[in-house]
Amino acid sequence: MSKDSLISVVIPVYNEEDSITANHEALISVLKETERSYEVIYVDDGSKDSSFSVIEGLIQNDGKVRAVRFARNFGQTAAMTAGIEEACGEVIIMMDADGQNDAADIPLLLSKIDKGYDVVSGWRHNRQDSWARRIVSSIANKLISRVTGVHLHDYGCSLKAYHKDVIKNVRLYGEMHRFIPALASQSGASIAEVKVGHHRRNSGK
Ligand code: UDP
Ligand code: MG
Repeated sequence: MSKDSLISVVIPVYNEEDSITANHEALISVLKETERSYEVIYVDDGSKDSSFSVIEGLIQNDGKVRAVRFARNFGQTAAMTAGIEEACGEVIIMMDADGQNDAADIPLLLSKIDKGYDVVSGWRHNRQDSWARRIVSSIANKLISRVTGVHLHDYGCSLKAYHKDVIKNVRLYGEMHRFIPALASQSGASIAEVKVGHHRRNSGK
């Protein structure tokens, strides 16, 4: 992957008015440090709070920010799909708006993409969610690993980087986003997993 290639960061948003700005600022400072060209695409998945006005403010301040807005809530996978369609970059990075992902991990994801991996998946090795969620996820992770034969520690982590050719060819429906690496691998994509940071939700749910 050439260092001149455009990076698209796609961020699905559902009722995240209190988190968007801080997450955005952290993201932009990391993207600037990479000295690569980028765009940020927000997908407002029918938020009922002021998320879209917050996003509009970001767009007014920065020509590299764009948005897609859904008239109602379609779910995270649908929001991701819309963002992927809108993205122009060679590399697409998926990230949450709630501040649980750490933008500082993006250079690590990019370094793996530069080495030739098609999908780089985050592994929340110090996951900051409730024990109940961690247990459910741990069972789900083992099951998905068994069934798909693509062995990752953490399928549910949204922080991932994809080569556009891989992700644009994956058809997603339902709540399928956890299976993107498995689907991509079936069409021959190479997958890497890297440890990433994880934070508690500051607000919202
Ligand atoms: N999200 C979305 N539509 C939904 C639910 C969530 O776009 O119907 C967004 C949400 O705003 C966040 C990301 O998807 O940016 C991940 O959601 P959440 O934090 O609820 O998932 P978790 O971190 O618990 O896996
Ligand atoms: Mg979250």
